[in-house]
Amino acid sequence: MSGIPVGISACLLGKEVRHDGGHKHSRFCTKVLSHHFDFQPVCPELEAGLGVPRPAIHIRRFGDDLKLIESKGDTDHTPAMQAAIDRLLPELSQLRGYILMAKSPSCGMERIKIHSEQGQVQDRDGRGLFAAALMKRYPLMPVEEEGRLNDPLLRENFIERVFVYDDWLRLEAEGLDRQGLIAFHTRHKFQLMAHCEKTYRELGRLLADLKAAPLSQIAERYIQDLMAAMTKRISRGSHMNVMQHLLGYLSERLPQADRTTLVEQIEAYHRGEVPLVVPMTLLKMAQRREPVDYLAVQDYLTPYPDELGLRNSV
Ligand code: SF4
Repeated sequence: MSGIPVGISACLLGKEVRHDGGHKHSRFCTKVLSHHFDFQPVCPELEAGLGVPRPAIHIRRFGDDLKLIESKGDTDHTPAMQAAIDRLLPELSQLRGYILMAKSPSCGMERIKIHSEQGQVQDRDGRGLFAAALMKRYPLMPVEEEGRLNDPLLRENFIERVFVYDDWLRLEAEGLDRQGLIAFHTRHKFQLMAHCEKTYRELGRLLADLKAAPLSQIAERYIQDLMAAMTKRISRGSHMNVMQHLLGYLSERLPQADRTTLVEQIEAYHRGEVPLVVPMTLLKMAQRREPVDYLAVQDYLTPYPDELGLRNSV
């Protein structure tokens, strides 16, 4: 159990903290992810002093300001929520990711209703007050809504980013130096290549001259661009490209029949006939049988624990 610290809306862990005294238990979080993540539950509305049960609240726009107001009434809970946010956010700096409850005026990440001063729905592209503050304070942190984790591609993408971000924060905690930055890039370069070849090339150039600027500046740009690139979905074509690249390192050591099978399965994956786990397992077997040092350090082959089964569905 790696125990990567990840924040989560408390109601998703089955805690009865919703305004009506209910919860929104996510079995995927408590039965699967909890084996790998050390969940740190937060209910911003409880932290703001709103009890259970409590009146439902929603967001209203007053000029440039967004306020948390009771849906049936005018009581304004914005100052209490802001005080809770100011108190909570500094304590969350060590989190490697955050899973939010959808549709909440506090925790919702997207498509939250914004109401007029009088309480009529004005638009539906808002963000919960706590979620907005969290994402502003920690722009590199992978954040996702629990409902979106039902999409295999979004789920795989989020979890991959959590593990990369965890690796980055560990590197920072150990003390970032040139060698550590290059080693980090080496571990993740094929993941980056799969997500965005353009960023892969740009960051390769950035790291080619580590004396061009102070290391902290280079590292800041590097991790910003890397984490942004990793939010992009990987197409089957990109995975095929990277797997063929890896195969190039292994090819000479493989018997002809194994090489042919690998090429066939990479192409079958590209056509959507088999999931990613099939050619990836063959690549890992080939690497295990005849190890290539350069590939041994690549997180692309195992970006997260296999038992999560994420590559069975993409
Ligand atoms: S969505 Fe957020 S504020 Fe609402 S009950 Fe869940 S944790 Fe609390």
